[in-house]
Amino acid sequence: MKRVLIVAIIAALFATFFALGLNDYLTLEQLKNSQAQFDQWLEAYPLAVPLVFFAVYVLVTALSLPGAAIMTLAGGALFGLAQGLLLVSFASSIGATLAFLAARFVLRNSVENRFGDRLKAINRGVDREGAFYLFTLRLVPVFPFFIINLVMGLTRLNVWTFYWVSQLGMLGGTIVYVNAGTQLAEIESVGGIFSPALILSFVLLGVFPWVAKAIVRFVQRKRVYKGWQKPTKFDRNLVVIGGGAGGLVSAYIAATVKAKVTLVEAHKMGGDCLNYGCVPSKALIKSAKVAHQMSHANEYGLTATQPEFSFRAVMDRVHRVIKEVEPHDSVERYTSLGVDVVQGYATIVDPWTVDIALNDGGTQRLTTRSIVIAAGAQPLIPELPGLEDSDYVTSDTLWDRFAELDTPPKRLIVLGGGPIGSELSHAFARLGSQVSQVERGERIMAKEDKEVSELARQAMAADGVSVLTEHEALRCEREGDEKFLVVKHQGLEKRLPFDQLLVAVGRKARLTGYGLETLGIRTERTVITNEYLETLYPNIYAAGDVAGPYQFTHTAAHMAWYAAVNALFGQFKRFKVDYRVIPWATFVDPEVARVGISETEAIEQGIDYEIARFELDELDRAIADSATTGFIKVITPKGKDKILGAVIVGAEASNLLTEFVLAMRHGLGLNKILGTIHTYPTLSEANKYTAGEWKKAHKPETVLKWLEKYHTWKRGGAKK
Ligand SMILES: Cc1cc2nc3c(=O)[nH]c(=O)nc-3n(C[C@H](O)[C@H](O)[C@H](O)COP(=O)(O)OP(=O)(O)OC[C@H]3O[C@@H](n4cnc5c(N)ncnc54)[C@H](O)[C@@H]3O)c2cc1C
Repeated sequence: MKRVLIVAIIAALFATFFALGLNDYLTLEQLKNSQAQFDQWLEAYPLAVPLVFFAVYVLVTALSLPGAAIMTLAGGALFGLAQGLLLVSFASSIGATLAFLAARFVLRNSVENRFGDRLKAINRGVDREGAFYLFTLRLVPVFPFFIINLVMGLTRLNVWTFYWVSQLGMLGGTIVYVNAGTQLAEIESVGGIFSPALILSFVLLGVFPWVAKAIVRFVQRKRVYKGWQKPTKFDRNLVVIGGGAGGLVSAYIAATVKAKVTLVEAHKMGGDCLNYGCVPSKALIKSAKVAHQMSHANEYGLTATQPEFSFRAVMDRVHRVIKEVEPHDSVERYTSLGVDVVQGYATIVDPWTVDIALNDGGTQRLTTRSIVIAAGAQPLIPELPGLEDSDYVTSDTLWDRFAELDTPPKRLIVLGGGPIGSELSHAFARLGSQVSQVERGERIMAKEDKEVSELARQAMAADGVSVLTEHEALRCEREGDEKFLVVKHQGLEKRLPFDQLLVAVGRKARLTGYGLETLGIRTERTVITNEYLETLYPNIYAAGDVAGPYQFTHTAAHMAWYAAVNALFGQFKRFKVDYRVIPWATFVDPEVARVGISETEAIEQGIDYEIARFELDELDRAIADSATTGFIKVITPKGKDKILGAVIVGAEASNLLTEFVLAMRHGLGLNKILGTIHTYPTLSEANKYTAGEWKKAHKPETVLKWLEKYHTWKRGGAKK
C-alpha cells in the first residue's frame, strides 16, 4: 500500500512539473535570460533564495527530472563558485540518495523476485567493490546520473556508502559545471562545457581507479617475487602437483587447450577418491547392502537368510572395483590425452621451478610458468595416548589391512561421527561386525539438521551400530591381547574393548614437505588462496582438498577448472571460483543428500524461510520398493518461489538431489519442478510432490473462493 502511495506521489509531482511547464525554465537560454532577475531576488532574499534553490535541486534530482545540469550552472551563476559548489554538491547527493531509496523501496523486491540468483552475484560484487564501481561511475560524467541512482537502488549497496561515494565521485564534475555557471555569458550550449581535452581528462579520471588497481597488483607482484630469479624460458606452461581429482582435471584442461603440462603424482594415480575413498567405500557399501537385503528378504516375500560369505572375497571385490575404475585415471589415459605424467614426489623450489624426486630413482627439474597444487588431504590422527600401539587403521590403510582378514572385524570401534565414519560404521555393521561408533559431539553427521542426524542414527542402530554420542575418546589401553578404547561419557570413564579401531575424525590438508614453507605460501587449515584460487604467488594456484573449503571429489574437479584456466589465461581474464550451489551426499542407508542451506542454517542466518516437505511413505514407488523411510525438505524464502536448500533422506537420495541442484544452479523454482513431467512410478516423483506441497501452501485462496461461487452459480445456486 505504502509502495503504491509513493509511486502515486512521484507520478503526481512528475505530472505537475511538466504541466506547469517548469521544464521550459530549465534551459540554458532561459537561465541566461533570467540571470538579472535571479540576481535581484538573491539581493532581496539572501537566505530564502539559496534555501529554495537547494530544495528545488533536491526535488529535481530525487524525481530524476531533466534539468539538473542547468541547475548546476545556475548554482554557479547565482551564488558563485564556493557557495554554488556547496549547495549543488549537497543537494545533488541528497537528491540522488532519495532517488536511490525510492527505487529500492518501490522496485527492489520485485526485481529480486524476478532475477533472484543473477542478482545475488551482482550483490556479492557490490558487497565487495560496490563503492569502487559507484565511484568510477560518478567520475565519468558521460553516464546519466539518474540511471546510476535508480540502478544502484536495486542492489544491496549500503545507503550511507551510496551517499558519500556519490558526493565524492561527483565533486569533480560539479566543480566543472558550477565554475562554468560563473561564466554563464560565455557558454553557448551545455555540451560546450566539455572540450575534447576536458572529456579526455574526465575519462582518465574515470579509468584511474582501474589503473590504480592494476598498479597495486603490479607492485604487489613485484614485492612477492622479489629475491626470486625468474627464468627467461620455461619447460612447461603448467606443472600440476597431485594426481587426484583436482590434479587430473587441471592437467586435462591444460592439455585440452594445448598447453604443455606435467602432472606429478607421488603415489597412486586417481588419488584418495579412487584408491582409499569414494570408490572402495562405495564398493564395500554395496556388498553390505546386498547382505542386508538377504537378511531382510522376508520384507519382499522371500525367505530371509543370514548371508554366508568370505570377507576376503568382499575385499577382493573392493579391489577389483578399484582396478576397473583405474584406467579412467591412469598414466596411459592421461598420456594419451597429451599430459606428461611423471611419477615422483614434487617440491616447489621457487615460484617457477619444481623438483621431482622420481619414484624409480633420480630427479627431474622443470621450470614452469604456472603451478597448480592439488596435493589433497590425509586422515587426521588425534593425539590419543596409546593410539600408536593400538594397531589402528584409517581410510588410507584399511583397504589393504582388512583385505587380509577372512572375516569382518568382530568388534570394530569407529572413532568419528562424520560422513566417512558413519558410512563405514553402517557398512561394517551390515557385514556382521559389532560396531561402536564413538563421537564426542551430541550427534553424528552434525552438519545436517538434527532430525536428519537422528534418522541416520536410528537406521544405523537398527542394523546394529552402537552410536555412542557425547563420548570423548581419552586413550587406548592394552591388557594382554585385549585392546580397549577408554572414553568419557557424562563424567564417567568407560572401557570399550575392540579388535580393530578405525580412526575417522576428519581429514587435514597436505601442507608440508613440498615447498610451501620455503616459499612462504600462507596456510591455515588449508592453503590460503584468494577467490581466483591464487596463492600468495599469482602464478601458483591450489585446488581440491588442499585448498578446501569442501572436501569432495566433485568440488576438487570444480575448483580445478578455475585453477587451471586462471593459471593459463589469468593475464587476460580471471574467474572467481563459484561455490553457490554445492551438493553432497552421505551414503548411509537411507542416503542423506543435501544442497544449499539446511533449516538449521536458515535459522542461524535469520532468514525468513518456509519448508516444503514430503514424506516418502506417501510415494507409490517407495511403497512398492519397501523403501518408505525418509523425506524431502526444501527451504524457500517465505512467499518466494526460490530454492535456498534441499535435503533428501531416502533411497537414492544422492541421485534424486540432482534435480534440485539443477534448479538452484539455473534459478528455477518449485513451480518449474511441479510443471515437469516425472515418470510414474519413480522415486523422482517425490521431488515433484514436494513442489506440490509448496504450491498447496501458496494456493490463491481468494480466486478459489470465487471459483467455488462461480461453480455454485453454474449449478443453479444449489449449495450441495
Ligand atoms: C573414505 C572416504 C570416502 C569418501 N567418499 C567420498 C564420496 O563419496 N564423494 C566425494 O565427493 N568425496 C568423497 N571423499 C573425498 C574425496 O576422496 C576427496 O575429496 C578427493 O579425493 C579430493 O581430491 P584431491 O585431488 O583434492 O586430492 P587427492 O585425491 O587426495 O589427491 C592428491 C594427490 O596428490 C598426491 N601428492 C601429494 N603431495 C604430492 C607431492 N608433493 N608430489 C606429488 N604428488 C603429491 C597424493 O599422493 C594424492 O594422490 C571420500 C574420502 C574418503 C577418505
